[in-house]
Amino acid sequence: MDISGQTALITGATAGIGRAVALQLAREGAEALVHGRDAQRGHDVVAEIETAGGRGRFIEADLTDTAQVLRLAQEAGEIDILINNAGVYKFLPTSQMTDELFDLHMNLNTKVPYLLVRELAPGMAARGHGSIVNISTIAASVATKGAGMYGASKAALEQLTEIWAAEYADKGIRVNAVAPGPTRTLGTDAMDPATLKTIADTTALGRVAEPEEVAEAVVFLASDRASYITGEVLEVAGGRLSIG
Ligand code: NAP
Repeated sequence: MDISGQTALITGATAGIGRAVALQLAREGAEALVHGRDAQRGHDVVAEIETAGGRGRFIEADLTDTAQVLRLAQEAGEIDILINNAGVYKFLPTSQMTDELFDLHMNLNTKVPYLLVRELAPGMAARGHGSIVNISTIAASVATKGAGMYGASKAALEQLTEIWAAEYADKGIRVNAVAPGPTRTLGTDAMDPATLKTIADTTALGRVAEPEEVAEAVVFLASDRASYITGEVLEVAGGRLSIG
């Protein structure tokens, strides 16, 4: 009932939450296919996995290019676990949201997971087992000023999570999502610290998460330990407060 001997593709695993998930899956015995654009950081993650006695392989692909998404699916091959983690988050009021940023959110956060499930789930179904975890965000269910496009693109992903869970249940594939709250990553390091603190203050725990804390939940849902859980969105968000 564990994940040793399984193969997992983790998109956006060169940094942040994806990196932490890849390291933990490898520690539990899976071969981790570490996807990203930055080859140096990708090879560093693989080296870290191998130093700890695990197995990993880097696959480079820019997911804004559909041809590269399809190549990634091809190169990943017969996987047991898919973690749709790569994503983009730009906080802007609607009046300042450009067409390009609209497309980037919908492409990276919604269309890429859709294409990867379309390409990779049939193989899982043919082999009779698989587990997919989509990385959403608390902003998909909490209306947050300035996070409109981000929240909407991930809300679509949460809806697809439920639909895929129903669609693939009789094929032995479980599909779940994790909705993290504010988490310390390369992406949030680039944000204004005051903004991050404001978001952290809306959690009961009153702090940002470390990526490893989010990875625990992702790996649980990916593994057979969650064998009776599908179509769920698990918040890993420090406890929601309606009034901060
Ligand atoms: P991050 O530190 O910004 O890292 C993003 C990862 O995605 C990197 O590995 C990056 O690869 C990859 N990526 C970005 N654009 C890409 C593209 N066009 N093609 C291929 N790969 C691309 O991200 P994070 O903060 O860990 O976030 C990971 C996921 O968690 C996202 O889906 C995000 O929405 C979600 N999330 C994050 C937080 C948070 O507070 N951090 C909260 C809720 C949800 P390269 O660097 O190699 O290009």
